[in-house]
Amino acid sequence: MKAVAVFPEEHALRLVEHREPAILAPGDVVVRVLDVGFCGIDREIASFRTGSSPADSPYLILGHEALGEVVEVGSAVRRIRPGDLVVPTVRRPCRHETCRACRMGRPDFCLSGEYTQRGIKGAHGFLAERFSDDARWLQPVPRELRDVGVLTQPLALAETAIAELEQVQKRLPWAALGETGGSGKRAVVLGAGPVALLGAMALVVRGYKVAIYSHGGRSGRSGHGDGGRSGQAGKAEFAESLGAQFVRAEDEKLDSLVDRTGRIDVMLEATGATPEALAAMEHLGRNGVYLMTGIPGRRGAFTLDAGHLLHGMVQRNQVIIGPAHPSAEAYRAAIQDLALFSRRWPGALARLISSRMTIDEAPEAFRKPAAGLKQVVAVAD
Ligand SMILES: [Zn+2]
Ligand SMILES: [Zn+2]
Repeated sequence: MKAVAVFPEEHALRLVEHREPAILAPGDVVVRVLDVGFCGIDREIASFRTGSSPADSPYLILGHEALGEVVEVGSAVRRIRPGDLVVPTVRRPCRHETCRACRMGRPDFCLSGEYTQRGIKGAHGFLAERFSDDARWLQPVPRELRDVGVLTQPLALAETAIAELEQVQKRLPWAALGETGGSGKRAVVLGAGPVALLGAMALVVRGYKVAIYSHGGRSGRSGHGDGGRSGQAGKAEFAESLGAQFVRAEDEKLDSLVDRTGRIDVMLEATGATPEALAAMEHLGRNGVYLMTGIPGRRGAFTLDAGHLLHGMVQRNQVIIGPAHPSAEAYRAAIQDLALFSRRWPGALARLISSRMTIDEAPEAFRKPAAGLKQVVAVAD
């Protein structure tokens, strides 16, 4: 079968003929791949800056954001049946007997750091015609989400951050009283890519007043980075359709936004942790929580006045939550929220998918700069 693979040693990226997956254990499932989304991590792997192939393979099959249809299940599989739509999670456990997290089936909290990640680190991804996996790593998706289920993984990143936010906000003295007044429901989302916009939707449905704050081109012109054809103007319109505000960093500084709208209780960073987004922490309000989904320094070193930022954080009783890896629970929350978003904003999720291409076109697309929001490889109908 066809797959898109990167050869880290030879610095090559191409279609390969890969062996057909099979049921090798009673808990296994074979999945026919429908859609695979790609993101900044895939581009970094495609340009050989990160990623590693399985120990027994000269190449790594790409793709960690997938939606597929079950074609065959092992004799012990009960929860999933042929014909079901599923989304696979990404991380798989390490082998260490002493890793309590992995032994409990929770590689999202792996203690050894020697976990694998499908399509990223030491395990093949899903950008192939079919793949197999243990059923416990597959989350069922309702049929009505066929066209947008590929957004589950990027939304799961935001869901993980928001679930941790909810945990942390239980510390507030009025939380036990069931009051939200003092805990604050004003959020700023930094960035305007797919994770940012999905995260904004997840915050809006939880009752937050959301402003999306993003660098980019001038009004009506294409933005760079996560811009694309629809550009910032399209994103502003999208934000407004959600009932969120869209603020261009070029038009308004964050301190003026705070003056205008009031204390910021939550910041959701979805820029890939750019220095500007981290410096924005300074404008977070008292008892506020800063949620990161990106990993700082991925694109090189930068300098921030950590003394100043941390001093403010301690004085204002703030919390920074790092980019935790999504648990199975976060994927389930994402699937539920996709259904909710589809009902609340019909057609909105489909607008986040900027283009669909065939598997044959995928290797070329990985080499080009990002175009629009989420690019998807339509592997099968
Ligand atoms: Zn991704
Ligand atoms: Zn582990």
